[in-house]
Amino acid sequence: MLKENEKGKNLPILFENKENCAGCSACYSICPQKAISMVEDEEGFLYPKIDHKKCIHCYKCQEVCEFSNQRKESENLSLIDIFAIKASDEERKKSQSGGLFAVLSDVILENGGVVYGCVFNEKFEAVHVRADDRKNRDLMRKSKYVQSNKSDTFCGVLEDLKKGKKVLFTGTSCEVNGLISFVEKNNKKLVENLYSVDLICHGVPSPLVWRDYLNWEQKKAKGKIKRVICRNKTFFGWHSYVTTIKFSNFRSVESVTFTNIFDNACVFRPSCYNCPYKNIHHNSDITIGDCWGIEKNIPSLDDNKGISIALVNSSKGSDLINMASKNLYMRHIEIKDYMQEPLRKALKKPDFREEFWSDYKNNDFLFIARKYCKYRPLEDLKWKIKRYLRWNLRRY
Ligand SMILES: Cc1cc2nc3c(=O)[nH]c(=O)nc-3n(C[C@H](O)[C@H](O)[C@H](O)COP(=O)(O)OP(=O)(O)OC[C@H]3O[C@@H](n4cnc5c(N)ncnc54)[C@H](O)[C@@H]3O)c2cc1C
Ligand code: SF4
Ligand code: SF4
Ligand code: SF4
Repeated sequence: MLKENEKGKNLPILFENKENCAGCSACYSICPQKAISMVEDEEGFLYPKIDHKKCIHCYKCQEVCEFSNQRKESENLSLIDIFAIKASDEERKKSQSGGLFAVLSDVILENGGVVYGCVFNEKFEAVHVRADDRKNRDLMRKSKYVQSNKSDTFCGVLEDLKKGKKVLFTGTSCEVNGLISFVEKNNKKLVENLYSVDLICHGVPSPLVWRDYLNWEQKKAKGKIKRVICRNKTFFGWHSYVTTIKFSNFRSVESVTFTNIFDNACVFRPSCYNCPYKNIHHNSDITIGDCWGIEKNIPSLDDNKGISIALVNSSKGSDLINMASKNLYMRHIEIKDYMQEPLRKALKKPDFREEFWSDYKNNDFLFIARKYCKYRPLEDLKWKIKRYLRWNLRRY
């Protein structure tokens, strides 16, 4: 349905409130006039802004918006198979969960295809990029718990598909749905070569808070950040939520400050409290995540090195997983035993979200860390000692 603005000038309106825009960038990518830019708001999230002088009122931007139109009724989607999956120990060491993303993307790369996913750039901002070899694909491994900037990624995917390449795209469900809609609007047939893998998604934190958090850690350590590992399972195991940051002066910090801010849910994008993808029926080919629940349901499979859950949603997804299966341990599971919250309902907006953002604007990060992240300097020291002990006991 096309909308008019309140002055009746037939200008496109992309969203009426911020809960209706996931920032997927499909509207930005489809505009034939390049009239849309993605602009950061005061919470650090990108939103599309139309330059009405350039706009020719074609409404392609409104039509492509999968999030606010919510046209894909989840009841029409099927769930073909569900597996608990592990790659080899070597693969799992390098990945966040069971290493499934790497094994699936290997199949695409071996067939001359390309992979799109999220990396940390040199400033440790999360951004989507393209990879046509394993070295660059490996940079996509591990979860970056902050919203990724897609910039011109969707147009890159379209170009690759037009060249006849197979493309694997990974991202949150809103990113995957936005991309599928964008490709379909350009040429429905091109979707045949697009392999889409979405993540079971709790929500995405603010890039502004992430940036401020890293600067704060950097100042404390008096060194430049060299590496960030969110949920570092190497020292603490797959079940833990400790972030490791390494600095140029050889210092490092083990911290749960960002985990605590993630847990209190104030820093998520407003659309995450209104997310239509919080169910078991997804429009992607495969949905992947952490196989939470395995520790209770099949404890023998939980070695604390990571295990993935895969929801196979299409025959294309089924073919891809079959091609990858020689490098995977796979076991059929029942979805009812693995219904983690993001498969059931959207995040609840905390009652104190407004208070949080008012505090955020008026105080420094230490205040925020103390008030909202249970930060105490001794807490970091506790994790450092734990890491030291584990390293010396050679536990992984
Ligand atoms: C913000 C966020 C929230 C998540 N919430 C949950 C959850 O609630 N429950 C759950 O089961 N799993 C969740 N996951 C997924 C989980 O953490 C693993 O990423 C997933 O299981 C893949 O593991 P792997 O070992 O197969 O992949 P890896 O080899 O570790 O590869 C990581 C994959 O995630 C993608 N990725 C990393 N960061 C981002 C990002 N910021 N935006 C988009 N894509 C990204 C990469 O492109 C790559 O495909 C979340 C991931 C993210 C990024
Ligand atoms: S959800 Fe995506 S397509 Fe819709 S308005 Fe936001 S950025 Fe544009
Ligand atoms: S209506 Fe057309 S030209 Fe105007 S911003 Fe939307 S896509 Fe661009
Ligand atoms: S919770 Fe929903 S809206 Fe938020 S990033 Fe995840 S898929 Fe997108």
